[in-house]
Amino acid sequence: MAVLVVGGAGYIGSHAALTLQRRGYEVIIYDNLCTGHKELAAGFELIVGDIADSAKLTKALNRCDAVMHFAAHAYVGESVQNPRKYFQNNVTAAIALLNSVMDSRVRKFIFSSTAAVYGNPARSPITEDSPRQPVNPYGATKLAFENALEAYSRAYGLRFVTFRYFNAAGADEGGTIGENHHPETHLIPIILQAIQGKRAALEIFGADYPTADGTCIRDYIHVNDLADAHVLGLEYLGKAESAAMNLGTGQGYSVHEVVSAVEHVTGHKVPTHIGQRRAGDPAELVADPTLAEKLLQWKAKRSLEQIITSAWNWTQKTGT
Ligand code: UDP
Repeated sequence: MAVLVVGGAGYIGSHAALTLQRRGYEVIIYDNLCTGHKELAAGFELIVGDIADSAKLTKALNRCDAVMHFAAHAYVGESVQNPRKYFQNNVTAAIALLNSVMDSRVRKFIFSSTAAVYGNPARSPITEDSPRQPVNPYGATKLAFENALEAYSRAYGLRFVTFRYFNAAGADEGGTIGENHHPETHLIPIILQAIQGKRAALEIFGADYPTADGTCIRDYIHVNDLADAHVLGLEYLGKAESAAMNLGTGQGYSVHEVVSAVEHVTGHKVPTHIGQRRAGDPAELVADPTLAEKLLQWKAKRSLEQIITSAWNWTQKTGT
């Protein structure tokens, strides 16, 4: 089976592409390289193109049986400052991609969504039937695409799996690909920059949350656990109906706990200082991953320690 991995030169897409390749799938990466990195697509056929370029996409789709869509802008803060950019790419251009798929013979589609569609959930751990009420434009764009998939599925027989990721982190254990965002906003890579002296300290965004130690709790999931779920999602689409599933571990860690885990794994003290809360950060976001477990027989296998070890190896190797 041939899979078009759209956004496959990005962080999560490149890990999915590598996992697919290791499992014997034929993979074509399609990426406009606006935030992706050519190096992350090394060893793959790479088509450099935009998701709104239907002529280019049609040619690629003719050679594929399924699509995984990772191509999106994903900075919450930027989406607040520049929603136009987010709605343009994550909705308008993404719908153009979906229409190109519908004009092809491909009917299997896997979509990268986010826990941000839940906004500030009333209950944690979060189940898929929690109300989807995003509190920032990034989450709103992902929800808009989820809605389109549901409508297209009902009307046109498209089969989709929507995966709502919690906090993706870590790097492939082989050491050839990993996380490399510019600018970097995510907790674990920022902590690793701080211990390397690439930034003065980690600013902890608020220590007055209603959690045990006052810092925010998140569900950190290894990027290769996400990648494994994508392969299972593809197999699932061969035999079952469309579904939306959370991808998380079900276990939350506070910012302080992540800092301690990094100190334990690396042997370096993390310089920190307490800053203001970051706008739009809920106190706790933890997945209930039971549905993915039930439908895909999938469970996150890698621990927080393994996440940090793999990210640290990648950082040291590449200097990112
Ligand atoms: N965080 C922090 N300092 C930073 C970056 C992140 O304290 O420099 C906290 C943030 O408030 C959140 C957690 O770390 O509670 C994870 O943030 P990240 O941006 O990695 O992911 P998000 O949860 O926003 O998707």
